[in-house]
Amino acid sequence: MELLPGVNCGQCGYPGCGAAADALVAGGAPPTLCPPGGTALARALAAKLGRAMDASGPPLLAEIDESLCIGCAHCGKLCATDAIIGAPKQIHAVLQEACTGCGLCVEVCPTECLQLRPQKPTFDSWCWPKPALVGV
Ligand code: SF4
Ligand code: SF4
Repeated sequence: MELLPGVNCGQCGYPGCGAAADALVAGGAPPTLCPPGGTALARALAAKLGRAMDASGPPLLAEIDESLCIGCAHCGKLCATDAIIGAPKQIHAVLQEACTGCGLCVEVCPTECLQLRPQKPTFDSWCWPKPALVGV
């Protein structure tokens, strides 16, 4: 309760910060429950409670199964962020810190060794989902 903002906005889905704190301590809510608190609060709650980053919806990023890559180099030409490294006829690799998960490269890989796979979220890679539009 000391860490939460205390404004009782309800964005966490609980009627107020007190109920959210109860759910956190009971293990029924993740440290990422409070959007106004931002990532700093999520980190602080996780540290205080001894909990790991446990957000749902892990991001999908490209990964290459090196045993199947034939080095055709089709994928790298499509990547807008230059996340794919490799020379023709050499095994390629994806720099995951540069990959946006757009999936363009997956479609051109002839051996299907390039796939989008879920990545374990970290406090540096995760953010809250965009709010749902109501009545639009
Ligand atoms: S998914 Fe998109 S950003 Fe990631 S490596 Fe493939 S083309 Fe590049
Ligand atoms: S398109 Fe597939 S096979 Fe070709 S270089 Fe990229 S990952 Fe390797």
